[in-house]
Amino acid sequence: MKTKKLKRDKVSVITLGCSKNLVDSENLITQLKADEIDVEHDQTTDSNVVVINTCGFIDLAKEESINTIIDYADAKNKGKIDKLYVTGCLSERYKNDLEDEIPEVDAFFGTMELPSLLEKFNVDYKHELIGERSITTPLHYAYLKISEGCNRTCSFCAIPLMRGKHISRSIESLVKEAENLAKNGVKELLLIAQELTYYGLDIYKERRLADLLDALCSVNGIEWIRLHYAYPSKFPLEIIEVMARQQKICNYLDMPLQHASDPVLDRMRRQITNAEQKTLISDIKKINPDIRMRTTMLVGFPGETEEDFQSLCEFVKFAKFDRLGVFTYSHEENTRATEFQDDVPAEVKQDRANRLMELQREISLQLNEKMEGKVYRILIDRKENEYYVGRTEFDSPEVDNEVLIKADDNYLRVGDFVTAKIIEADAFDLYASLV
Ligand code: SF4
Repeated sequence: MKTKKLKRDKVSVITLGCSKNLVDSENLITQLKADEIDVEHDQTTDSNVVVINTCGFIDLAKEESINTIIDYADAKNKGKIDKLYVTGCLSERYKNDLEDEIPEVDAFFGTMELPSLLEKFNVDYKHELIGERSITTPLHYAYLKISEGCNRTCSFCAIPLMRGKHISRSIESLVKEAENLAKNGVKELLLIAQELTYYGLDIYKERRLADLLDALCSVNGIEWIRLHYAYPSKFPLEIIEVMARQQKICNYLDMPLQHASDPVLDRMRRQITNAEQKTLISDIKKINPDIRMRTTMLVGFPGETEEDFQSLCEFVKFAKFDRLGVFTYSHEENTRATEFQDDVPAEVKQDRANRLMELQREISLQLNEKMEGKVYRILIDRKENEYYVGRTEFDSPEVDNEVLIKADDNYLRVGDFVTAKIIEADAFDLYASLV
């Protein structure tokens, strides 16, 4: 045992969940590296210390997080690792229960407890590192978290319980971070927040996302800026005006709408109606006809009838979203929706999710086919087997369409922009040849 203690620690940070968690892991890695601690991301081959950054968003995510903790607790029992720490949303929410149930974990931390986690490594939290990040994504794109938390009160959502109230970062600090990222080769910034449109209301007493976008557009080296997670009620249309005016802002908006039937929207406390959602989408497309929209829907919410579901399908046909994701509802402790009975059977929830995805598949295919024969600027993300895989400005990494270019006669570099013509489309992928 003594020799083990003399050995230099090798730390592995495991990230589960969404891109916001990934940014938190990147900040942790940056702080550790600044103290010359040997740390790697999502690799545990020869690490003796493991930090798991958990997700607690929905049942499936919670299950994955718990299974991961149990796997590493087993590894600790077998002497394969020396220390195990757990942080992130699940830990924030269920710290006390987890401490009792998985005693192998050396310590649990909440989402705002990075300094305490660092103390375990004898590292002081360094404020001067704010804005510097060891990114774990491919070098040419990075997530930029512009705020933390959420002030909305959607009845199904546990995020405010785990991430707290909305806190915006200042425009200056975000521009500084974007400059650092650009210096390190980042070309595409993916702006993320629980709720983008609220940006600025806490620190500036007014919505300032449009100003932030203008400021980020002036950063040399950044060529694409993409917007994820906008709340629809009282959506500030000036964002779409900036998007139409500024070349660097991708014609892309991720706006999770969750549902479209009025009784369900009301019980979800979304503060918007079906008609208002339709008007909003029409207004957005009027200001920027080139925009591509992504949304997320939640089916099987308490009391959702077949009629409600049909209303959702009609809405999806009207809106013709370019990309759409579906979740099935499950009760989240301490949220308002638990006051309702979770009365839609599991198989009905899944059947509705499948039907909605099938409808979207047809819409996506039609929209993709319209791209055939047209020429687009493509950012190359990686090489995979016989293809280079990239994206147009209309697609975000991991979740959206990819463009495949035969590698046969071409030599392309990952992170470069190329110009290519779409030669074939299916529902979720595009095939292209270089122009
Ligand atoms: S806006 Fe999004 S993060 Fe905020 S409460 Fe609603 S669903 Fe949750």
